[in-house]
Amino acid sequence: MSDRQVPVYVDTRRIFQQEAVMGGFVELERLPRFRQSLVSDEAEIQVELRFSEGDSGYREIHGHLQARVYVACQRCLEPMAIELADQLSLALVKDDEQASRLKPELDPWICPEIKLVLADLIEEQLILSLPIVAAHEEGHCQADTGAAELTADTGEGIEEDVKENPFAILEQLKKSD
Ligand SMILES: [Zn+2]
Repeated sequence: MSDRQVPVYVDTRRIFQQEAVMGGFVELERLPRFRQSLVSDEAEIQVELRFSEGDSGYREIHGHLQARVYVACQRCLEPMAIELADQLSLALVKDDEQASRLKPELDPWICPEIKLVLADLIEEQLILSLPIVAAHEEGHCQADTGAAELTADTGEGIEEDVKENPFAILEQLKKSD
């Protein structure tokens, strides 16, 4: 874990030429749109970014992000911690037209200026990496109403177990006697 903060922005005339590598944390207050998806300001967000001129003819940014944040469980609406982890491979482009010509393994990042705001880029990647539906695991959710629902969900699993190992069930029956 790095205790350095990622710079607010970088100068695109230099950073790619220098093949800079930077790692560090990003404060949630710099990510207002991402923050709207969260239910707590308790968040750990770490990124590593590698800048290069790239083989694609475009300036590229590769790296990864890792975050631990709290979102609302979609079943019970209570906070739940989730881990986000994502790789990123971006190419800096001037406009949509350039973006449409990129090879598929690169995602476009439109930046016609010399100032590249890193928080915007990181925020976008974090939003993309959020799960569409987040919910507590079975049995850990306030919305779990009890036996009926559990049996319905795991019924198939129990049948599988019986087929694979009938003796386990016999053991259980003996114990419960
Ligand atoms: Zn829940």
